[in-house]
Amino acid sequence: MPAERSDSDSRKLLRRLRDVLGTKAKGQDRLDRITHLIADSMGTEVCSIYLFRDAETLELCATQGLKKAAVHKTRMKLGEGLVGRVARSGLPVNTPDAPGEKGFRYMPETGEELFSSFLGVPIQRVGEKLGVLVVQSKASRAYSEDEVYALEVVAMVVAEMAELGAFASDGAGLGALHRQPVLFRGSTGQEGAAEGRVWLHEPRVVVTNPVADDPLYEIDRIREAVGVLRVSVDDLLAAESLDKDQKAVLEAYRMFAHSRGWLRRMEEDIASGLSAEAAVEKEQSAARSRLEQVPDAYLRERLHDLDDLSNRLLRILTGQGKDTGAQMPENPVLVARNIGPAELLEYGRKLKGVVLEEGSVGSHSAVVARALAIPMVIHAKTITNEALNGNPILVDGDQGIVHLRPEDTVARSFRDKIAMQAKAQERYASLRDLPAITKDGVTISLHMNAGLMADLPSLVGSGAEGVGLFRTELQFLIRNQMPRRDELAQLYSRVMEAAKGRPVAFRTLDIGSDKVLPYMKPNDEPNPAMGWRAIRVGLDKPGVLRMQLQALIRAAAGRPLSIMFPFISEHGEFLEARAHVLREIHRERSLGHDVPVKLEIGAMLETPSLAYAPDAFFKLADFISIGGNDLKQFFFAADRENERVRKRYDSLNASFLTFLQFIVARCTASGTRLSFCGEDAGRPVEALALVAIGLRNLSMRPASIGPIKALLRRVDLSEVRAVIDKARSEGAETIRPALVDWLATQGE
Ligand code: PEP
Ligand code: MG
Repeated sequence: MPAERSDSDSRKLLRRLRDVLGTKAKGQDRLDRITHLIADSMGTEVCSIYLFRDAETLELCATQGLKKAAVHKTRMKLGEGLVGRVARSGLPVNTPDAPGEKGFRYMPETGEELFSSFLGVPIQRVGEKLGVLVVQSKASRAYSEDEVYALEVVAMVVAEMAELGAFASDGAGLGALHRQPVLFRGSTGQEGAAEGRVWLHEPRVVVTNPVADDPLYEIDRIREAVGVLRVSVDDLLAAESLDKDQKAVLEAYRMFAHSRGWLRRMEEDIASGLSAEAAVEKEQSAARSRLEQVPDAYLRERLHDLDDLSNRLLRILTGQGKDTGAQMPENPVLVARNIGPAELLEYGRKLKGVVLEEGSVGSHSAVVARALAIPMVIHAKTITNEALNGNPILVDGDQGIVHLRPEDTVARSFRDKIAMQAKAQERYASLRDLPAITKDGVTISLHMNAGLMADLPSLVGSGAEGVGLFRTELQFLIRNQMPRRDELAQLYSRVMEAAKGRPVAFRTLDIGSDKVLPYMKPNDEPNPAMGWRAIRVGLDKPGVLRMQLQALIRAAAGRPLSIMFPFISEHGEFLEARAHVLREIHRERSLGHDVPVKLEIGAMLETPSLAYAPDAFFKLADFISIGGNDLKQFFFAADRENERVRKRYDSLNASFLTFLQFIVARCTASGTRLSFCGEDAGRPVEALALVAIGLRNLSMRPASIGPIKALLRRVDLSEVRAVIDKARSEGAETIRPALVDWLATQGE
């Protein structure tokens, strides 16, 4: 706890700072007065404020004690010098001998060589780095703990003032916050381009009163709010439907909510003059800075818990609930740290785009975004700090880039891109009812991948001949509890109706690996992708599989039915899975239900082993679908979720193509229908290669069908084959460059 001196002095200083905020002064004048007030109150010769000019550069924006000529001239990179070190780490630097400190950088224009002692603290607001506040003195002394604390409290108020736009009215570099264009480089979650306005999934809480006059009143407020918070967490914990994991998370919440240290620190902040809200934010920022240095993933996860709790507490204090009364803008682009598939589905198609700070390509939210055909960028770090509701935003899902508050020129060229894409889509629409036939007369069947009811309208629009892969697990993933058989039967029946007689290959549950059902006990496996997943779960614990098969048979109600088993690795597994279907058909018939007039049972070939299964397997399977996403990861032993290794091996690697050709040959020999339903089927160059080596059925996301069909209709397959053969005979590792070069000579 700071000494008595700092309590009243710091309250006085904060009040004087607040008065600065209340005046009509220009931004620069305010900053100048603030540095003067702080130096005066702390008895230091120097006080300086450095603010971020862009994400990497800090600028001296005001100073008391350094040379005035250096203001807006002196700049340093993040991490550079002592100021840059404070900015990067988010932690104070306190030294009696600044020039002797490692990393010190001498800035001659400031005249700071006169000053020996240095104390710098970050100006930050919940993970948002705004700048650095520094005091310096000639005398060589370390600042006391109380002084460090007092300066941190002041920095908090400066941060809130910046957030409120106190320095934004003029002055180079001062208007940066939430105003300048910002570019975020993330990764592709779902292709496509969108222009719209930001809609924050979790709106920012705005604190308008960082400084408070009556500490006792503020302490009452914070105690009451923490009380409400504790009750709400206890209520959540008392809910009956919690599973073990949800309970564990909530227990961690409860631990934080009941932590005496947390409340005590906030009360100390209030005693120094902060309002209850500012105290919550100060502790939230401090905890973030500390925990961000921790390499342990589990502890960092706890940081999210504490963040969530702090946000809840802020909402209780400010009365700004999740529903802030803000109107969702037209063309909303959802911006969030992360979002679950169910929540994303709730927003549905009204979203123009989605931008996440976290997420992964293989995540279920990405799968949902794909199903809804909403452009999505993931890993757009810190965007939730920068973006404000209603800000203009451009989402480039193809490149994984987001432009927030874009310059006019950027927005214009982006619109051109969207217009060109729309034009191309129109062109594809005109091909909808034409076959995908190559110039030399080879016809290819194009099907679509689906997993949600929302996908089905695309069946007609895209010109797909059917659904080559219906990922049934999505229905399980978006719920909080296991769906019932009747619910599933109704859903499958609606899918078949929407397909209007076109075939739909229902893939039975593929859970495990990265797809963990919220209501099932997770298995702590070292390698889940190679673990207890998909058909392995289905065969070992057949209850759910049988329920799903019954639902499918009932949904078909006498219509043809096509069932496909995921992740079959050997003949025996297929035999066993197939026997389950036959048993259920028998059972349904004996119960008096209609059974499918035609039944097809197929297997997904996703592990190399199945390519070498006995002939009997190929003869028995009604069809085989290559799950290229998984097959590729096991062929190269390269995790599909791990960007680093995934990109290392090209899908057009000559060895992989030779392997695929071997599968084609085996299916041709046994007369088994073969298709390919991995993501590569929807990529132009890849699709061309697949067709050239003999695949005649491709299943892909609906938006790819038009472009792939247009491409196939303008090529001569024998030429493509010749290009591939030549590249191979020359020993090429991948045939991609040869194929891309050849395509470039083909014109539109
Ligand atoms: C595949 O592995 O290629 C596939 C289509 O299945 P999923 O992507 O759902 O694993
Ligand atoms: Mg798969």
